[in-house]
Amino acid sequence: MSDPEREAHEKATLLQPPERVLATLNADGTRRWIRPRLSRGRYYLLRRSLAWVLMVVFVAVPHLRVGGAPLILLDIPAREFTLFGTVFRPTDTALLMLLLLGILVGIFLVTALLGRAWCGWACPQTVYMEFLFRPLERLFEGSPQEQQKLDRVGGSWRRWLKNAVFALIACFLAHTFLAYFVGWEQLIRWIRGSPAEHPVAFLVMAGVTAAMVFDFLWFREQTCLVACPYGRFQSVLLDRDSLIVGYDVARGEPRGKPGKRRKGLPLADEDAKARGDCIDCRACVLTCPTGIDIRDGLQMECIHCTQCIDACDAIMERIGRPKGLVRYCSQRELSGEGRRILRPRVLVYAGLLLVFATLLAIGLSRRGGARVTVLRGLREPFSELPTGEVVNQVRVKIGNQTRESRSYRIAVEGLAPDQVVAPENPLPVAAGALRETTLFIKLPEAVFHGTGKKVVAIVVEDGAGFRARTEATLLGPKE
Ligand code: SF4
Ligand code: SF4
Repeated sequence: MSDPEREAHEKATLLQPPERVLATLNADGTRRWIRPRLSRGRYYLLRRSLAWVLMVVFVAVPHLRVGGAPLILLDIPAREFTLFGTVFRPTDTALLMLLLLGILVGIFLVTALLGRAWCGWACPQTVYMEFLFRPLERLFEGSPQEQQKLDRVGGSWRRWLKNAVFALIACFLAHTFLAYFVGWEQLIRWIRGSPAEHPVAFLVMAGVTAAMVFDFLWFREQTCLVACPYGRFQSVLLDRDSLIVGYDVARGEPRGKPGKRRKGLPLADEDAKARGDCIDCRACVLTCPTGIDIRDGLQMECIHCTQCIDACDAIMERIGRPKGLVRYCSQRELSGEGRRILRPRVLVYAGLLLVFATLLAIGLSRRGGARVTVLRGLREPFSELPTGEVVNQVRVKIGNQTRESRSYRIAVEGLAPDQVVAPENPLPVAAGALRETTLFIKLPEAVFHGTGKKVVAIVVEDGAGFRARTEATLLGPKE
């Protein structure tokens, strides 16, 4: 049996599903390429403006500084994250945890209120796909119909040229992405040098470029459908009052193509009564970047991009019906009830967000220029001198949280300088570094009599306004 014959035989004997199982899958299991039409409605114009702003911000951020510090710099080798001029170091684990918890709860809150607004309006996948790569594809390959023709024909110089432009843009975006981790100045030095001088960074950049080309050229909507965890969690993050893009079944059904009417005259009354507003034109389906039919109800594949709203509004305008057959609404509104904004999950998320934000603000305001930790010495609790004095060893750890080297003077409140011996005092600590020193504190034996303890206050100052006072309990003989 020849190959074409075998193919025809397999097609004839293949068990065909009764209906389309996945929007992006043909009946024979091959990929169905989505070539969406563009609907230039009001939401598209708004989203396009926002997308351009976001694209400019993404490229500009590595160049921006706040108070001398980068706006955002994720320095992984130095384990130092700078966000909006604030530096987080490994010693700031609690603050970083609060920040991440705040972001997580913020995502929950926004999703509960606005549904997948992030996916449709601000996610880099949507922004770059729909407002950079897809427009370029239309420029090189023409309309969706022409693109489908190219899909059937295979390679063409237009497609190869488009692929090359995609790769160039991906390479530029990958460099920008790398700048978030190494800073723009370092990136420029690397670009001017040989890749052999910075092989790891070069491989990261090449890997990110390849991943972007793969994503925007081939994987596309599959990123949202199968790879993105956020999309998968929608069933638990949304409720009946969350904002969704929905089709008004009560108004649209029974759907059907309008009956014949005489030119210039409105639909016959009987015809209008018999049908819903949906004329089954499929404009909403043809415009959907994930290939689904919004009339089938809320689906995980819907990224709330609003293209079906724009498409349907244009049709409604054309046939003289009110806009909004497909619109932003909640599931409760679609079932004829009012929408509730304040509900238990919204209040809980908002409360948690407030708690995390407050704790983070307090933590940041108290952090000051250094983190000081006082610990007991590692050897015996204390030692007694022939002079009748007791010596305690105390370890002092100082983490410099500023962006410059500082020297920290250590003293014990109420004690003379000769009662406190430190190998290095003041203690120099480089920017972002952590150093430890040991204090030997000498006190007369009599101060311990009775309890065997004496609480002292250790004061650390940097001479530039930073002062930390930490209490430590010293031990001695009870009698
Ligand atoms: S159904 Fe509508 S809102 Fe959802 S992804 Fe498709 S076009 Fe966008
Ligand atoms: S665009 Fe509107 S009228 Fe046309 S099929 Fe979709 S919902 Fe029906």
